Amino acid sequence: MSIGKKSEAVRVVVRCRPLNKKEEAMNRERIVEVDVRLGQVSVRNPKSSGNHPIKTFTFDAVYDVGSKQYDLYDYACKPLIDSVLHGFNGTIFAYGQTGTGKTYTMEGVPTNPETRGVIPNSFQHIFTHISRSQNQQYLVRVSYFEIYQEEIRDLLCKDNNKKMEIKENPDLGVYVKDLSCVVTKNIKEIEHVMNLGNQSRSVGFTKMNERSSRSHAIFVVTVECSEMGIDGKDHIRVGKLNMVDLAGSERQSKTGVQGQRFKEATKINLSLSALGNVISALVDEKSTHVPYRDSKLTRLLQDSLGGNAKTVMVATIGPASCHYDETLTTLRYANRAK
Ligand code: ADP
Ligand code: MG
Repeated sequence: MSIGKKSEAVRVVVRCRPLNKKEEAMNRERIVEVDVRLGQVSVRNPKSSGNHPIKTFTFDAVYDVGSKQYDLYDYACKPLIDSVLHGFNGTIFAYGQTGTGKTYTMEGVPTNPETRGVIPNSFQHIFTHISRSQNQQYLVRVSYFEIYQEEIRDLLCKDNNKKMEIKENPDLGVYVKDLSCVVTKNIKEIEHVMNLGNQSRSVGFTKMNERSSRSHAIFVVTVECSEMGIDGKDHIRVGKLNMVDLAGSERQSKTGVQGQRFKEATKINLSLSALGNVISALVDEKSTHVPYRDSKLTRLLQDSLGGNAKTVMVATIGPASCHYDETLTTLRYANRAK
């Protein structure tokens, strides 16, 4: 049984970042309008002088340039974290062109309550819930890995350049063999683990930016809760929360790329197109097949997408005219997921 209608299990929101200093200095034109009340984003084609230069899309919520980290967390993500605390699985994605605020949205600046993103806000929520619970015992475990060109790398293991394999068995489902899993007892510990993973994301590779914009970083928090039932026996519920900072969408979506370059681009972001297909199959009530097996990302998230699991997609865009094509592509991708 799924929670409500299929479409209610998937929430899609869009966030537009402010013009950055460079764009301001270059006097870039803004082409994005956000109507928070209607949940609409409109984007104007700067090259068009025709009759329909503006395209408008409607989402579950939209966030303007001045939006607060906590507001996005509170509406878009908190219900999903609550359902994880009750033993369901869930996945939060940040999708968008490099430089539009995926990492800012997922991570932000964790040391400041105003600027911390979805991941540190979820830590706060999870451990506050645990500290207030009276009759339950909790165990919180963390894994953190990245997928780069369909290869998996453990971000919590020193020897993290070895290739990791995906395995499947009836008890564990689909999993990464030998992936580190760290027990964390409080916010400080879980933040420490996140920081270690982030460091390992950025060291050891000379072209750090290149890599981090082309890889998917998946932060997994497993919350196990045991509670004495009225039958006098211990009952265990396990919820899994995946928070995913996806690879930049630009390569995969560059319009007009054909032939060999197109093949390369699709290989780099195979997981992104597979994810789009999975989510659109999940929200399409007529579809009978969900193509989870098409990429490592969708295979590994299979138990946390669809069924009882909730999904949130935060699509991030920039406001400037120079990114019109990418912005439109992102809005279309997000629109397919509704
Ligand atoms: P991405 O991860 O998508 O490549 P980043 O999160 O690194 O993009 O964001 C690029 C830059 O824009 C960073 O300097 C970040 O601080 C800034 N930024 C992104 N989104 C916002 C926002 N909503 N408000 C303020 N600054 C933002
Ligand atoms: Mg980033």
